[in-house]
Order: sequence, then C-alpha cells, then structure tokens
Amino acid sequence: MYTNYQEFLKKELTSIEEAGLFKNERIIVSPQGAEITINTGQKVLNFCANNYLGLSNNAKLKEAARKALDSHGYGMSSVRFICGTTDIHKELEAKIAGFFGTEDTILYAAAFDANGGVFEPLLGEEDAIISDSLNHASIIDGVRLCKAQRYRYANADMADLEEQLKKAQNNRFRLIVTDGVFSMDGNVAPLDKIHELATKYNAMIMVDESHSAGVVGHTGRGVTELFDLKGKIEIITGTLGKAFGGAIGGFTTGKKEIIDLLRQRSRPYLFSNSIPPMVAGAGIKMVEMMSETNELQDKLHENTAYFSKKMIEAGFDCKPTQSAIVAVMLYDAKLSQQMAARLLEEGIYVIGFYYPVVPKDLARIRVQVSAAHERAHLDKAIAAFTKVGKELGVLK
Ligand SMILES: *Cc1c(COP(=O)(O)O)cnc(C)c1O
Repeated sequence: MYTNYQEFLKKELTSIEEAGLFKNERIIVSPQGAEITINTGQKVLNFCANNYLGLSNNAKLKEAARKALDSHGYGMSSVRFICGTTDIHKELEAKIAGFFGTEDTILYAAAFDANGGVFEPLLGEEDAIISDSLNHASIIDGVRLCKAQRYRYANADMADLEEQLKKAQNNRFRLIVTDGVFSMDGNVAPLDKIHELATKYNAMIMVDESHSAGVVGHTGRGVTELFDLKGKIEIITGTLGKAFGGAIGGFTTGKKEIIDLLRQRSRPYLFSNSIPPMVAGAGIKMVEMMSETNELQDKLHENTAYFSKKMIEAGFDCKPTQSAIVAVMLYDAKLSQQMAARLLEEGIYVIGFYYPVVPKDLARIRVQVSAAHERAHLDKAIAAFTKVGKELGVLK
C-alpha cells in the first residue's frame, strides 16, 4: 500500500519544489536574540523573529521558569479539568485578565488552539461570524469547525464590513472577528470603526492580539489600548509565543460567561495537555514586568520608527506600519528571494515573502523590529539593505 502512496507523496513534494515554494529551515545554534548563530557558524542579526520585546532569552524569565520547574516539576501529564491545573496556572490566568482589563482568561497550549476552540462552543447555525479576509490561519480553521454562517469582508474595509453586517441582521447573534495586527503588512485593524459598526448593528467583537499584545499601544496592551477600548471587547485571543517571552502557550480572555463556557466545551482545552509549570511561572513574571514599566515598548516603538524612517529616506518603498513589522516592498517574487539571500551574506537575517503568502506581484521582505535591537544593529541592517538594494537595482 505504502509504495503507491510514497510515489504520490514524492510527486507532491517535487511539485512544491518546482514551484519554488519548498520551505527550507535554517538551523540556529544559539538562543534567540538580536544576534544569533546559525549552524554554518555565521553570526547574523535577526530581523525575522517574533521576539518583539527581546524577552526570548531574558534572564528574569529564565529564573522564573527555573523556579517553577523546581517547585512544580517538568510536566503536567494531564488536561486542565482532570489534574492539570496548578495554582500558577490560575495565577497566570488572573494576571492576563488584569493586563487586558478583562474578566477572566483560559489558557491553551497555543494561540492556534485558542482560535481553534473558541467558535464552535459559543455559536450555532443560527449565528453569524463576520471575518476579515486576512485573518490568521487558525481563525479560519476555527471558523470551519463551527456551524455558524460565515461572512467575509475585505481586509480592514469598513464599507464591506457594514455590507456583511446588514446581510447578517437576521442571524441570532453576530461576532465580528479580526486580527489586531495583520502580519504581512503591519497595519492594525481599525478597531474604533469596527466597534462603532458593532454597536450600530448589534454585534460582538473578537480580536486576536497575537501580533499586537506587548507591541501596540503605549503600554503594550494591544489594539484595544490603541483605540481606547479596554474592557469593551467581548473576546481577545493571544499568544505567549511572540512578544511575551516566545516560549509556547495561548489564551482567550474576555467576558466571564464566555470563558466559563469555554472551560466546559472548548475541545483543545478539554482534550489537550496543560502548559508546563515553567511556562506558566515565566508567564506570571512576564506580566509583572509589563506592569512595572513601558521601557521595552518605548524602545520598540522608537526602533521601529527609526528603522522605517531611515529605510524610506534611503529610497525603499515601505508600507506605513502601526506595529513592529516593516514590509519592504519589492513586488517581484524572485527579487525578494535574491535580496534575502544576499542580505544573509551581509549578516542580516530576513525573509522574503511572495505569492501565495502575499498577493501576486506584491512580494516583499518583512522586517521585524525588536526592542533587543540596538541602534548599531539597525544602522547595520539599513546599510546592508542600501548596499544590496543598489546592487540589485532596487535603489537607483
Ligand atoms: C502567531 C499567531 C497565532 C498562533 O500563535 P501560536 O501561539 O504560535 O499558536 C495565532 N494568531 C495570530 C494572529 C498569530 O499571529
């Protein structure tokens, strides 16, 4: 049996390769940081991690993780409702709710699971989910598992959202779903306008703050802070795997009854392991650090503004950013790959994205700025971009 299937798989893999879409992984042999070492021995500056606050190798988080490892052991060997809940899981849930100004939080193994398990328990076939067309894959998968009627609006297009809300007026309940930051362009969801439309058409809102939590807003509370909507959004999902230390873990935070029902019926919560105590322990420390100071947010915002301004001055076509993502537009797919490869030779690790990850003829290099970057790192990257840009004819 496998012989035939093996042939089939080999053809499939070859066709991915021939289309130039085969993903090769680069191997890192150091901790994640502004500067990393790859397995060729080369040291490169990292501009493609979600390590927005530079916490992935933070000494205080590692110490908190070690402490929890000693006090609560390595693994939980259980789902939450059987014997997988510790005092530190509960403490982290309360801390996350405090951070976002919400009523309660439920933890998951990943934000992918939070999004995968949020729709099906809450909405039925009488209801409507109205989803931004650029929402994350995990939202799309979560919506697929739910029987609610689906409506889609063009990215951040408020006229289209209003159109869809009108169509959904006969449904019992309506939930508008959006990413906080759209990860390919770096734009934020216009949550102020979404909130106005939600009020006008009697809908609830869910925001996935995975790319925005810790990053967007003066104190890093995400797009709900940016638009002054703290406590007014019914459902927020997010990850501990990006700005918040970058380890693993996701959460849904929001209205009490929503979280209560998710604890009863959300399948990735009921049928998948609890996060390890060390991740919960470090998570608590992370929220405490966030609550003490905005230092990291300030540095990140300053770094992003500096990088973006200098790149535009150098002549690059950068999308206006409201996050820590700077999309350097190249349009041509092949060029985006050539440029990323040349930049790596120059010691700058960035990734070129092209169709189907971004629309056809809108290839780009996505730069992710971090609070871990020092001014010298940014200057080195800008100089390398300028050198390679001239070499490849991107800059005149
Ligand atoms: C990264 C990301 C996720 C997935 O997060 P994990 O915790 O790694 O599963 C979900 N939603 C959005 C918007 C993301 O950017």
